[in-house]
Amino acid sequence: MGIFGKDIKRMEDLFLHTLQDIYYAENQIVKALPDMIEKSTNRDLTAGFKKHLEETETHVSRLEQVFKLLGRQPKGVECPAIDGIIKEASEIAGDVADKEVLDAALIGAAQAVEHYEIARYGTLAAWARQLERDDCATILHRTLEEEKATDEKLSRLAERKINVKAAS
Ligand code: FE
Ligand code: FE
Repeated sequence: MGIFGKDIKRMEDLFLHTLQDIYYAENQIVKALPDMIEKSTNRDLTAGFKKHLEETETHVSRLEQVFKLLGRQPKGVECPAIDGIIKEASEIAGDVADKEVLDAALIGAAQAVEHYEIARYGTLAAWARQLERDDCATILHRTLEEEKATDEKLSRLAERKINVKAAS
């Protein structure tokens, strides 16, 4: 099925489709993070991934709240973008032999995931506001801010510790 099938006519349909896309993506991220936790060796990185797994579970339940506000059953639609990002992450992680270089690779992969989420939540929050669903926009915006904070934390950890060790 094409990403924009014939069933998407109105802005509301597009909003719902994209909500289903990120719902699928968040659920895939919940499944992928334990592997990243296991592969990481830097303590701060492992702790950061663990914390973000908890946050990601909250993101799933926030999306379920949004579905509820819309009077819809939570449902995911396949998202080839997140599947590709996660697949690439596990492939690169499998190819890196040095533990410290692996940590750098894992941060890079995690930031690709965060950037995808930031793009999606930014769009969804803007569409929700446009559709005069400020109730949904508020919830989506909360998650957007958490994704941004995670991304910034990963940048700091990479620049201060992980990349330095990986390059030495
Ligand atoms: Fe998330
Ligand atoms: Fe995230």
